[in-house]
Amino acid sequence: MDIQKEINEILDELLSFLQHEAKQKNTITVSPEFLQRWNAFDTRSYAKHLFQIMNANEDDVKNEVPWMAIENNTVSQEMVYEKTEENPPIFDIQHQLDLINKEVSVCKKCPIHEDRTNTVFGTGHPHAELVFVGEAPGAEEDRQGLPFVGRAGQLLTDIIVKGMKMRREDVYICNVLKCRPPNNRDPNPMEVMNCEPYLIRQLELIRPKVVCALGRIAAQTLLKTDAPLNELRGKWHNYHGIPLRVTYHPAYLLRNPADKKKAWIDIQEIMKLLNGEITVSFDNDKISLL
Ligand code: URA
Repeated sequence: MDIQKEINEILDELLSFLQHEAKQKNTITVSPEFLQRWNAFDTRSYAKHLFQIMNANEDDVKNEVPWMAIENNTVSQEMVYEKTEENPPIFDIQHQLDLINKEVSVCKKCPIHEDRTNTVFGTGHPHAELVFVGEAPGAEEDRQGLPFVGRAGQLLTDIIVKGMKMRREDVYICNVLKCRPPNNRDPNPMEVMNCEPYLIRQLELIRPKVVCALGRIAAQTLLKTDAPLNELRGKWHNYHGIPLRVTYHPAYLLRNPADKKKAWIDIQEIMKLLNGEITVSFDNDKISLL
């Protein structure tokens, strides 16, 4: 394995771990130096630095990584960083999502990459309480590089805006596959195996209050089951400690409008959880997805 890539992955994992730890707490105490370093920290360039200095002596290290030269590097003045509405978290989730998106945009793990116009990573709020997971991009999504922007996407937008009275930009929308399968065929197991790690990393960063799986493919992939959709609907599932609800795919609802009533029941359950009318908790609700 390319050593620079390996260091980069280790740092990315460390970052995810720290970010996960931070989310468990309401306040984090850090030094101003830490904040300064954190804001300047870029895993990729740091990996490059490490790579360059691996055989260097201490002085070289200090020259390459300026903050290592700070004498007496102790916490001089503690500051309390409180996670409030006004204070963004120290760990910039959008930045982490952007880094994964960059990886996805050059991913060539599956032959379908040859036919894509764009990868479709996902859009929405990095701190969304609700994440919708669909199957894979269709023709319009492939053209625009955005999820659910075709006819099925319009229906999903109506569900969010007219039904749930939320803004589309306040939820997060993504798919199991980031590339369009030819002729909108179902994703094959190899494609799911290659692409699901990106989804898992997205969900681990966002850590929403609830996940909504849209359709059979998303539900079966996330829940690691072959059970049919109708068996998976109508109950809460435990997705690594995150409550998950399954509903019909909007494209199916366009073909079968009579089932919209049942989909609305699923959505109302999700709204009850988001509004605090019901609580769903699991023993392992702090378990990392990674
Ligand atoms: N269907 C999906 O599953 N995802 C999209 O982004 C669009 C259509």
